[in-house]
Order: sequence, then structure tokens, then C-alpha cells
Amino acid sequence: MKAAVVRSFDRPLQIEELPVPQPGQGQVLVRVETCGLCHTDIHAARGEWPVKPSPPFIPGHEGVGIVERLGSGPMYGLEPGMRVALPWLGYACGTCRYCNSGRETLCLEQKNMGYALNGGFAEYAIGYARHVVRVPDGIDPADASPLTCAGVTTYKAVKDSGARSASLVAVFGVGGLGHLAVQYARITGASVIAVDINQARLESASAVGAEHLVNPLEEDPIAAIQRLGGADAAISTAVSPKAFEQAYGSLARGGKLVFVGLPADNHIQLPIFETVLGGLDIHGSIVGTRHDLEEVFELHRRGLTTLEYAERPLEDVNAAIEQVLDGSAPAPRLVFRMASGSGAATAGELGATIGA
Ligand code: NAD
Ligand code: ZN
Ligand code: ZN
Repeated sequence: MKAAVVRSFDRPLQIEELPVPQPGQGQVLVRVETCGLCHTDIHAARGEWPVKPSPPFIPGHEGVGIVERLGSGPMYGLEPGMRVALPWLGYACGTCRYCNSGRETLCLEQKNMGYALNGGFAEYAIGYARHVVRVPDGIDPADASPLTCAGVTTYKAVKDSGARSASLVAVFGVGGLGHLAVQYARITGASVIAVDINQARLESASAVGAEHLVNPLEEDPIAAIQRLGGADAAISTAVSPKAFEQAYGSLARGGKLVFVGLPADNHIQLPIFETVLGGLDIHGSIVGTRHDLEEVFELHRRGLTTLEYAERPLEDVNAAIEQVLDGSAPAPRLVFRMASGSGAATAGELGATIGA
């Protein structure tokens, strides 16, 4: 199978021909149709976070494809031919206090797709039967891909933000994640302010329902949002610590700041006094559960969300990364569509895989 492999944090990904992996206990083999490029994949490929993956590995946690082969053990109703998504939460223990209280994304035993587990930047990927999520009929795999991380993450972040019909919600960073955050906030009935330094991204945000647009390169977002009364919730998906500080400054009294983006530069400075006197909440939000993703797919099936993406062949992975980084990507999300589509795995191809 063809795969895009990270061999080292300081080198581009390599397109390689690898053996098709074999599903083990509790696992399924998925023939990947599409996989989105999340900014997390870029952080992973460059080793930018405090906890790093171990090269070699295959990134990708917006993989969507067809179950091709079942491993052993319980399969949770999965059968060959079903379309599934392979989200970031590739595995959780299922028994700890987090898993058993609707907070599986906090499980200390979790393994993440495209990080500790090989991900969807490949023609085939292994998923845990308990953790892959069925994609409803009628949803195009290229639509399902951005929903699998960008969608579920911002759906959860908007829920956590407490947004409701009378709220003013500011979304800082309206790229892959942010263009969906705007839509989930709109679904609550809230009025949405989109903030981004990229004018094309602001235009997409406007097209999907943002009522106010702010470009921090042209005006001070704190002053602009305070003029509107201050944000009841600010959700920061921007890959910039400065945007988090501005999101904080944009809050109304009693407002809530939701951290979602994970910039390489890991620290910000916030005042204690204003946080206490303003009764402000600061909250970290990490992806969403399998159940959240089912809800995200259902909202899309009902026509309540719109996805803006451009497709790329997997071979263009390094050029795609550059376009996300320099802001020249033609859409908020880039999605790889695998050329394979054909050629079932043969027994002869089964064998070792790379990474964990
Ligand atoms: P993206 O590159 O598509 O979007 C980031 C956006 O932020 C871009 O549109 C960019 O122009 C904008 N931006 C950059 N600097 C800014 C600034 N100073 N002010 C305003 N906007 C600014 O990335 P993405 O795929 O949407 O991911 C965003 C971040 O979220 C990444 O750090 C990623 O790792 C993280 N992430 C977190 C979770 C989670 O569970 N918390 C899940 C997925 C991704
Ligand atoms: Zn992601
Ligand atoms: Zn657990």
C-alpha cells in the first residue's frame, strides 16, 4: 500500500510502498478512501508538542473508508463493506473512571490515530472495532473526513462553551476547525464573530453564517468585540498564543474562553485580577467522544452543516502542508483522496507495519 510516512521531525514526509497491515484482536482493516489534513498532523510530523510521537509513523486522524477485513474478538456489529471513520481517539481502555463517565477522551490509556497508531495518510489503516464510528449512508467520505476531527472537536467545544440563542460567540481562527465551530455555534442560535488574519478564511466563515468578521491585521479584535458588548464565549482554534490572549480580552463579564488550538509555542499570559473580578471561565476542550461524532454525522446528514474543502492526491502531502502553513490553501480544509479504491489486500501483502 502507498503511505505518507514521517521518518524524522526535520524532514518532509516520504511516500512509501508498505505491506498492508493485518488486523489483530479487536481490530479491523479499513481501505481508506479519504483523509483530511488537520493542523495536528503538521504538529505531529514536526514533533512540535511536549508529548511527541515516535517516527517512523503514518499521520492522519480524519481517515474514512470501507471495512475490508475483520480481526478476532468482538466486532461491535461491524461487517466488511461498512463505511467508517477513524478518529483521533483510536483506542481508550473502556474501564477507567474517565471512560465510564462519558469522558473517554481523557482516558490515560488512550492511543491516538496518526500519532501512537498509524493513521489515515495511507491506502489502508487499522482501527479498533470499538472506536471506529459508522458513517451514515448518503454522506460523501470527503465530507465525513473533516467532520471526523474538525467537526467533532468544535461540536464539543461549542457544547462546552455554553453557547445558546442569546449568546455572542467569538471564534478565533476560522480554518479547518473554525469554519465548523462557526456553524455549530450558529446551530445553537448564537450570533458569531469570526476572527482570522487570513481574509479568504473570513470570507468562508461569512458564507457559513458568521455575522461579524474581524481581521486582527486590520483592527484590534479586543476593541472590536468589546464594542459589540463582549463575547459570552470565545473559542480559540488559532495556531497562535497571541490569539488566545486576544480571545480572553474579548470576553464579556461572566464569559468563557475555550482553548482548542494547540500552537507549538505553548504558553500565554493571563491576568488573575481581571479573571476573578470578571467571573471568567477558562476551559480546555479535547476532541469529542464516539457519541459526539455520531451526532456530528447526524447533523450533517440532516443538512445542517456545510463543508468547505479542496481535494489533493496523497502524493501532494508536503505541498499541502506548506499551503496550510503559508495560508495559501484554497479552502479551510485539504482532504486527501486515495487513488487506490481498487485492489483488495492480498494475503501476500499482509505483514509487518511500521510504528506502534
Ligand atoms: P488551520 O491551520 O486550518 O486553522 C488555523 C487558523 O488560525 C488559520 O485559518 C489561521 O489563519 C488562523 N490564525 C493563525 N494565527 C492567527 C491569529 N493570530 N489570529 C487569528 N487567527 C489566526 O488549523 P486547524 O486544523 O483548524 O487546527 C487548529 C489548531 O487546533 C491546531 O493547533 C490543531 O493542532 C488544534 N486541534 C486541536 C484539537 C483539540 O481537540 N483540542 C483537535 C484538532 C486540532
Ligand atoms: Zn485533528
Ligand atoms: Zn479509560
